[in-house]
Amino acid sequence: MNERTLRQVIPGQPTSDGAGVKLSRSLGSQPGLRFDPFLMLDEFYTDEPSDYLAGFPAHPHRGFETVTYMLDGHMQHKDNFGHTGDLAPGDVQWMTAARGIIHSEMPQQTAGRMRGFQLWLNLPASEKMKPAGYRDIPSAKIPTAALDGGGRARVIAGSVTQSGVKTDGPVLGATTAPLYLDIDLAAGVSAAVSVPNGHNAFVYLYEGTASIGTEARPLPLRGAGLLSDGDTLKLTAGAQGARLLLIAGKPLREPVVQYGPFVMNTREEIEQALEDYRSGRFGHETEAA
Ligand code: MN
Repeated sequence: MNERTLRQVIPGQPTSDGAGVKLSRSLGSQPGLRFDPFLMLDEFYTDEPSDYLAGFPAHPHRGFETVTYMLDGHMQHKDNFGHTGDLAPGDVQWMTAARGIIHSEMPQQTAGRMRGFQLWLNLPASEKMKPAGYRDIPSAKIPTAALDGGGRARVIAGSVTQSGVKTDGPVLGATTAPLYLDIDLAAGVSAAVSVPNGHNAFVYLYEGTASIGTEARPLPLRGAGLLSDGDTLKLTAGAQGARLLLIAGKPLREPVVQYGPFVMNTREEIEQALEDYRSGRFGHETEAA
């Protein structure tokens, strides 16, 4: 057994995106701050409608996947393939932009709390130009696993095995083998979770206090805590309990060239993406099943 430890923290930076939605960006806040295969992690968390009302009007993506996880509030997705999806608390939208999609993400509320995450997950070169795909995953389809030592995890992607019982999340089998867990630990609880050797893993604390590993290195709130390699992770909640994301995936080890919402392997491919977008060649292929 080789325990993972906290090796680097990427603090959350306040920023805004879309038409002026306020959010905190950790991964991806600067081009060098990615963690292969993860490109970006945003948390939006506000009780103030003026922080989110403008939403994210129509915009394109190519070359990767966006994973949106809502904790509070209501957002509506619409895209140029005719998909409409409503995201309510606990729901996930897994959008594989691949060769191109144009969508909007707009709040469907004018008051109250809006809280959730958007993760950008890269695709390998061989899949960047496959047809776009889209999945709405309602909260009821996301299983919860009891963790050894206490606490529980919602399994959004990948699998968790605890006390010999395997819990599969709704998203399985992608090339990057993503693991996406939303973990809830009561005060003082210590849980151990397996993460495959060689996969890049990070932890994002969004409520309470927690520490990592036997050495109990504290995690800052709203920072991406990048972990060393290993096959197991020990998480311990502080006196207020902890809510955190554990996200892991198989690194692609390919060049990343990003221009805003386009993430490809070369500059030429970015130029092609811009040309295809400008000339209306996004979203004209047969849509994925
Ligand atoms: Mn988007």
